[in-house]
Amino acid sequence: MQAILLGTGAPPPNPRRRGPATLVTIGDRRFLVDAGSGAGAQMVQAGVRPWDWPPVLVTHHHSDHTIDLGHLLISRWIAGQNRPFEVYGPAGTRAQMDRLLAWLHLDIELRRAHMHDRPPPTAEVVEVEEGTVLERDGLRISAFLVEHDPVRPAFGYRFDGQGQTIVVSGDTRPCENLMRWAQGTDVLIHECCEMRHTSWYPGCGWPSIEEKIRDLASYHTQPDDLGRVAAGARAKRLVVTHLMPGSDPGELKAAAERQYRGPVSVGEDLLEV
Ligand SMILES: [Zn+2]
Ligand SMILES: [Zn+2]
Repeated sequence: MQAILLGTGAPPPNPRRRGPATLVTIGDRRFLVDAGSGAGAQMVQAGVRPWDWPPVLVTHHHSDHTIDLGHLLISRWIAGQNRPFEVYGPAGTRAQMDRLLAWLHLDIELRRAHMHDRPPPTAEVVEVEEGTVLERDGLRISAFLVEHDPVRPAFGYRFDGQGQTIVVSGDTRPCENLMRWAQGTDVLIHECCEMRHTSWYPGCGWPSIEEKIRDLASYHTQPDDLGRVAAGARAKRLVVTHLMPGSDPGELKAAAERQYRGPVSVGEDLLEV
């Protein structure tokens, strides 16, 4: 089992980090956790062709995790794939995919007008709850609830296969339920959205940058909490992702190592773990 961090960024556009997306490979099966900005281009970099885009597991409906769903849906169809696009995600995923197909309708019909007998693209959506999402051929994928209020539900995903486990946190504040579901995992890929690096602009919805930082830090994991979460999960390895543009990888690693004795890697795009 292997994971490739396709995108290790956060909502702000960052030339060095694409939006959140992680490719998990178990034997000959692949799954994409989240479809942040640039997910398709990064999959090509990782050797996956558009007609082979894997099923997508959406953690939650923040746009930094879903913005490229439409691009993936249409680019696999343009490349020739007629099988339904498989998407798993929280309640609301079906409606979001229907809206995407409605928005893409004009493009789809323009393209079909000079194709021969081509059916339009379709999506096969499974709305998940906490527990087993998929189990077959010695592989189990589970969804578990994380704490990202007011986003409810928000999930992390656990992959079990070939005697190994990988856990992807999604977006969450430090979360006891995640620590339970991730107990003893070989790899914990955990977010760290360091809000002290956020920007502020008049009209952004918070009267001051201090208030914005306080508010957003309460639903993400900050550097000083990373080690406590990894230690609580008894993870064998911690991989940090979802970095803000101003975050310093060395500082994040040092912060995590204050409370966690295992190996810590701070993610870079296309890092294999
Ligand atoms: Zn989020
Ligand atoms: Zn996010």
